[in-house]
Formats: sequence, structure tokens, C-alpha cells
Amino acid sequence: MLDVKEIQTIEHDVLVVGAGGAGIRAAIECAKQGMNTGMISKSLLGKAHTVMAEGGMAAALGNVDSRDNWKIHFRDTMRGGKFLNQWRMAELHAKEAPDRVRELEDMGAVFDRTEDGLINQRNFGGHRYPRLAHVGDRTGLEMIRTLQDFCIHQGIAIHMECIALDVLKNNGKVSGLVAYWRETGRFVIFKAKAIIFATGGAGRAWSVTSNSWEYTGDGLAMAYRAGAELMDLEFTQFHPTGMIWPPSVKGILVTEGVRGEGGILLNNKNERFMFNYIPEKFASETADTIEEADRWLDGDKEARRPPELLTRDVVAKAIMNEVKEGRGSKNGGAYLDIASRQSAEHIKKKLPSMYHQFKELAEVDITADPMEVGPTLHYFMGGIKVDHETQSTNVPGLYACGECAAGLHGANRLGGNSLSDLLVFGKLSGDYASKYCQKNRLESTSEQEIENIIRNATDILNKEEGKNPFLIHENLQKIMNNHVGIVREEKELIEGIEKIETLKVDIQEVKAHPASQYNPGWNAAIDLSNIIIASEAVAKSALIREESRGGHTRLDYPDETKNGLEYNVIIKKGTDGKMETRKEMRSTPPEHLSKIAFSSLEELEENNE
Ligand SMILES: Cc1cc2nc3c(=O)[nH]c(=O)nc-3n(C[C@H](O)[C@H](O)[C@H](O)COP(=O)(O)OP(=O)(O)OC[C@H]3O[C@@H](n4cnc5c(N)ncnc54)[C@H](O)[C@@H]3O)c2cc1C
Repeated sequence: MLDVKEIQTIEHDVLVVGAGGAGIRAAIECAKQGMNTGMISKSLLGKAHTVMAEGGMAAALGNVDSRDNWKIHFRDTMRGGKFLNQWRMAELHAKEAPDRVRELEDMGAVFDRTEDGLINQRNFGGHRYPRLAHVGDRTGLEMIRTLQDFCIHQGIAIHMECIALDVLKNNGKVSGLVAYWRETGRFVIFKAKAIIFATGGAGRAWSVTSNSWEYTGDGLAMAYRAGAELMDLEFTQFHPTGMIWPPSVKGILVTEGVRGEGGILLNNKNERFMFNYIPEKFASETADTIEEADRWLDGDKEARRPPELLTRDVVAKAIMNEVKEGRGSKNGGAYLDIASRQSAEHIKKKLPSMYHQFKELAEVDITADPMEVGPTLHYFMGGIKVDHETQSTNVPGLYACGECAAGLHGANRLGGNSLSDLLVFGKLSGDYASKYCQKNRLESTSEQEIENIIRNATDILNKEEGKNPFLIHENLQKIMNNHVGIVREEKELIEGIEKIETLKVDIQEVKAHPASQYNPGWNAAIDLSNIIIASEAVAKSALIREESRGGHTRLDYPDETKNGLEYNVIIKKGTDGKMETRKEMRSTPPEHLSKIAFSSLEELEENNE
């Protein structure tokens, strides 16, 4: 007999789920506002996915090129997102990112410096000016180190290796959450007035991905089960440059910083093929000759940017096409050459992780030879639908920020815009969740609800026989790779959705070794119940959007359509328990923002208020 009263119970005003950049920044804000704040994470503090971020965080500080300002950052973000971004979020992000970066520096982050001693900034795809504050190619590590060192002095209760299972509600409002300790398998009830999800994406649904093991879409699935809406899930970013050889490391990221430092992409004919893929709308800002691209690398401010720095969706599709046309590299990708562009000393200084990564994993010395690269699933533009001012969801008391929240990046994220997103919207979600707590009392929790959540989890352990969770996960990854990959079409998507339906039945029969203590099979089975929801949501959203835009490419609808800009795809759990998909019309963009987004660069450089 399960006695809920016997279960460990911890009470907070705000519970933050996730201790990556977004979660820690949110928790710091809550603590600052006097909230009793708890933060839980699947892994140890400091080990979240954010730690893997390499290239940098985007903020219009204007340290390297003083022509930069928030309006140009905003314009770049909207253009990169194919104008499907939530306008106000893109405005807030561009305006507040510089302050958040400087604040991180005040907390102790040691950025690379310019010769004048300012925070150095590097070029990245889709950003008009050098904009990414960075620490070599280990920016995420420095960000997490700084936030972690700072947050442990703010009175935040940090619960590590604690896995959230589901949200508890009373009167429609958040009342807490049930979780379990990874090590012991024991359950814990968190009572809280507000919960902030900062749980990251769901990249582990694909077999070729840059994402860490933690990315199983837990926040998306828990929010969905709690009645929150999800949005824009068809937009999954395939980063153009993942490692492709040897097979054991396929998918590991090769930072865009390599191209930011001057790296070029070549096909098997040694041609710089990106010149053949410059989209009309970026033509006026992109160099169309090697000479001009080289002048840009030499620091000529009048030269246009090389085509290797076009947005990720464009570069990924260009590589795919070269491979399809028989001009791919030996192992089915493209060559990325930095060796002929920069000195060995510069490469080792600015890209130390890349140097070691290739040396150790592929036995390639990138200061002498080109790398082989190809697209890898990297980022979720879509996620939990949030209010653009407050980061609240449609469930009172539930907030979301960071990669698990939707809106800022529209159809395609610009590199570097995630790390600044974490800081800007982590802070805002903490701020508004705290305000919510000041106005609302702690709701009571229902023993029945707690019991149901625990029974769902323990059923997996109590079966005589059943299916292997690892094999089901592998099957899911194959389905997503083959049916919901970088290019999609109706027939493939419908087949994929049918296969996902079959896997859902298999998941009901999943079984793990019956031990409550550290049990990887059990953890994997629980992850499955989340990642399957994220996968189904991506496939269904991809089916409904009959056009190609940013991170969503349909072979049967190859162009962007005017109508495609008029709606977002929303996912919600129906009253019958089935997943509902609908198109929600977007409101008219605020006039002042639409004016900026469609202004010329010259106008924005001059008019910098
Ligand atoms: C290799 C790589 C390089 C990148 N480089 C850059 C870059 O240079 N610039 C840039 O802007 N972006 C970059 N990105 C993207 C960026 O790193 C991520 O989008 C960002 O770090 C996400 O941060 P987050 O705080 O939202 O989530 P995360 O950092 O992933 O944190 C998620 C947290 O949620 C916890 N969690 C998840 N589920 C549960 C659960 N059920 N219970 C409890 N806790 C849970 C996890 O344990 C973790 O603590 C890169 C990504 C990768 C993979």
C-alpha cells in the first residue's frame, strides 16, 4: 500500500526545474526577489547541456563594430527566424541581452578581450556584425561556471540528480510536482506556488544529434500533460556542421565559430560551393566573389560577409544538396577548412576544443587538414507556449524559459541567440513567477494525483515481462531520422506518425529491472514516456505546415508561402487524452517593430536610440 504521507515532502515558493543557463538565471532572480527557491536537475549542478555551448552569446554590445545596436540585432533575429518569431520577445531579447552579458561579467565571467580590454565579439551566421561575446570555444562552460558559483551563495536549495515526473495542480493552478532521486529511486513531493520549466529540448529523439542525454523533452511532455500548450514544434534546427566520421562520434557539434573565424566549406571538387546557394533576400548582404569574402576576413568593413555565414538552415540544405548531387565528402558531408585560412596558433587559441575534439576523436589535425562535417539535429525552436511579457503558460503558476520555451527564434535560431535567450528570459521568468507567488497562496496537493503519478512510474518495475526501453528508444530515433528529418514530405510524415502510434503501445509494455536504486533501464523508460510526446508533436506539427520555412523543409511544399506567416501550429492535449493540433492566427506585428525589421541597415545604423 502506498502511503503518500510517508513520502519526503519539500516546500518552496518557486521550484525551478532545470539547472542549465536558463534555470539558474531564473532561480537567481527568484532568490533576489525574496522567494524561497528550489532548483532540481537530472544531473549534477554544472553539468547541464548549456555547458556544451561553444561559440558564444549574442548581444549588440558594439565592442568590435560600433555600428551594431539592438535594432540591427532584432532585425537579424527576425530575418533569421523568417519573421515567425514572437515580435515582442525578439525586441526584449535584443534590447536586454547587452545588460545580461555585462551582468554575467559582473558575476565573474572572464570573456575574451579586445585589444582595448572590452569584451571581445566574434562573427556568427546571420549576425550582421561581430556580436558573440565568447571565451574561446568554451563559452557555455564559463557561463555555467559563473552562474553556478554565483547561485550557490543566494540561498537557493539545489536538489541534484532529482528527476521531475509530473506537475500537480489544484483548482487548475500549479500546486507542486512529483519527482524521484536518481540514485535511490525514492520519490519526493515538491509543494510550490509556481514552477518554472527550464528543461531544454528533445534532440535525443534523433540518432544524429549534438544533444546530450538529458534532452528527452521532459519539460515539453510534463507541460503538455498539465494542460499547457506547445507551439512551433515543426521547427527543429539541423546544424550544418556536426562531425560525421568516425561513426561513433557522428553528430557531435563543430562550432559555427570555425566559420566565424574564417573557415570555408568545400565539396569534393575543392569548390567553395556556398556561393551557389545565396538566397535572394540575403544577396545584398553576402559576398558573391571569393575576393570580397577574403577582404571581409582581412577586416575590410565595407566588404559583405562570406556565404559560409548564411543562416544554418541555408547552409545545412546546401551541404545536403552537394551530397545529393554527388559532390559530397568521402563520408557523405562537406569539408570545412580553417587550416588554409588561419595560423595554427590562432586556431589553437580561438578554437581549442575543436582542435582537441578532432585530434582525439577523429585523428585529424585541424591546423593542417580540413574537417569532414554534415548536418546534425541541434536545437528546438518550438516548445512550451509562453506569454511574451511574462513567460507564463496557460496553466496558472507554470512558467517556461530557455530552449524548452517557444517564441523568440521563430522558424530558425541564429547561433549565439540561445545563450543570451537563457539570460534574458531566465531573468524575466524568475521575475514574473515571483510576482505570481506574491499574489497567490500555496494550493493544496491531491493524494490521488500523487498516487497516480507514482503508480505510472512504478508500473514499469512491477512487470513479469515486457519490452526493452533502450530498443524502443533506438526505434524512435530511426523513425525520426527517416520520417521527420531535415527534409520532410506528407507520405513520410504520415507513415512516421503511424509508427510513433505503434511505439506508444510498446511503451505501455516497457519493463525495467525491478530495483528502486540507481536503475538506468527505469530512467530510460521514464524518459521514453516524455520523448515520445515531443516526437509526436514535432511530426504532427510538421505535417500541418504545408510550406518550407527555416528549420522546416517540405519536399512537397518547397517554398515559403504568404499564408505560412499568418499562423503558429499549436499542440494541446485534448479532453479525450489525444494530441490535438491546430493553427492559431498570429496578431498583426507592432508597427514600430515591423518598421525596424524591414528598414535598411544604413537607416538603422544612423538611427540608434
Ligand atoms: C554542442 C552545443 C553547442 C552549442 N553552442 C551554442 C553557442 O555557442 N551559443 C548559443 O547561443 N547556443 C549554443 N548551443 C545551444 C545552447 O547551448 C542550448 O540551447 C542552451 O544551453 C539550453 O539551455 P537551457 O538552460 O534551456 O537548458 P539546459 O542547459 O539543457 O538545461 C536543462 C536542465 O534541465 C534539467 N532537466 C531536464 N529534464 C529534467 C527533469 N525531468 N527533471 C529535472 N531536471 C531536468 C537538466 O538536468 C538540465 O539541468 C549549443 C548547443 C550544443 C548542443
